[in-house]
Amino acid sequence: MAGSIRILDNKCVGCTLCVKACPFGAIVVENKLARIDYAKCTLCGACFDACKFDAIELKKDIAATRDLSAYRDVWVFAEQSNGKIQSVTYELLGEGRKLADSLGMNLCAVLLGSGITEKAQDLVVRGAQKVYLVDKPELAYFQDEPYAAVVIDLVNRHKPNILLCGATTIGRSLISRVAVSINAGLTADCTGLAIDPETKNLLQTRPAFGGNIMATIISPNNRPQMSTVRHKVMKEAVVDASRKGEVLLQDIAAELLKSRTKRIKFEAEAETTVNIAEADIIVSGGRGMMKSENFAILKELAGVLGAGVGASRAAVDSNWIAYSHQVGQTGKTVCPKIYFACGISGQIQHLAGISASDIIVAINKDPEAPIFKVATYGIVGDLFKIVPMLTEEFRKLLKK
Ligand SMILES: Cc1cc2nc3c(=O)[nH]c(=O)nc-3n(C[C@H](O)[C@H](O)[C@H](O)COP(=O)(O)OP(=O)(O)OC[C@H]3O[C@@H](n4cnc5c(N)ncnc54)[C@H](O)[C@@H]3O)c2cc1C
Repeated sequence: MAGSIRILDNKCVGCTLCVKACPFGAIVVENKLARIDYAKCTLCGACFDACKFDAIELKKDIAATRDLSAYRDVWVFAEQSNGKIQSVTYELLGEGRKLADSLGMNLCAVLLGSGITEKAQDLVVRGAQKVYLVDKPELAYFQDEPYAAVVIDLVNRHKPNILLCGATTIGRSLISRVAVSINAGLTADCTGLAIDPETKNLLQTRPAFGGNIMATIISPNNRPQMSTVRHKVMKEAVVDASRKGEVLLQDIAAELLKSRTKRIKFEAEAETTVNIAEADIIVSGGRGMMKSENFAILKELAGVLGAGVGASRAAVDSNWIAYSHQVGQTGKTVCPKIYFACGISGQIQHLAGISASDIIVAINKDPEAPIFKVATYGIVGDLFKIVPMLTEEFRKLLKK
């Protein structure tokens, strides 16, 4: 953030209130006068708010000069892969509709790709009143530089109030670049969004401190207010074929489409199983699986049920299964109809990823394991006996 800050020596009494308030350790008191270390100061304003003697002068240039009322509408970045709109986009449109209605603003989508024009209609029937469309061969697949440059250009031209993006690999990479370039605040991995009825600021809620508390974050000084939202946390907007919306094809300067990187080839993950982020049933294994080979019994059960295979971080860190299967705070958030947790203790970081499951079945030999506190059904016993028994029973039942 541009701006300036200084201590007014004639007013400073050396009380140290500012020292205590500064979260960055950027202030010391020397000879009864506060001194700012400008290398550490971020102009956050905490010291300014804490000073009781009006001894700090703070000028935030952007806040002062930017007319926030010029920023209208709620935007959703429509993520697509190989021309297919990703379902997280529909979840964002569902949530974005509520925010737009609270603000009396339009819900809009931003769609980038190549040969993608007809897909704009998929966004309209999910509630987008306007679709900002950029259809260029250079945007056929995601690349950081051109995608970010185009989104920045559109934001500068059309000034959205809110910009939402999926907390996916692409979304996280794209939107942090955009936020830095336009000096906007960004809250990552939100699990809840709402509008403050008084200030009209976006209230962005996300787990903090290892999932032990929920923090609600605001970006009051800049626009757009930007959030990434985890997949499967919000409900998808329903399709209504009668909805009408404008598709606005955007002109983009050629230099914005340049990239210093190029994709040489795309290699799908070698092991092809059901994508756990989309799966209705997930069979997950933890440290109790003991070794990589033992995941075979989970894969067999998953095969019978048409389920995806998930894992705790302990199993992933042990190299028993690829990271794409990890469920939890630093893995995927899932919301299946049934979640089988086999040999998983149920630490808070794992539970953060499964709390939206309809039914949780826990199999654990320790009756005191925390997973049983959240499980719908708990089976105390050795998973190496129980899982094959379940597989056989389901096989018989599903054959009927
Ligand atoms: C910042 C941070 C982020 C994290 N993110 C994640 C995350 O995204 N996902 C995640 O999972 N973790 C995450 N963790 C790690 C988390 O704290 C736990 O360490 C991890 O979830 C433990 O995995 P586990 O339950 O498989 O292993 P353990 O806690 O070791 O549990 C193993 C369980 O298996 C049971 N067991 C053993 N043998 C058998 C058997 N034969 N039959 C039945 N039960 C058996 C045991 O009784 C035990 O309950 C994170 C941690 C931190 C600090």
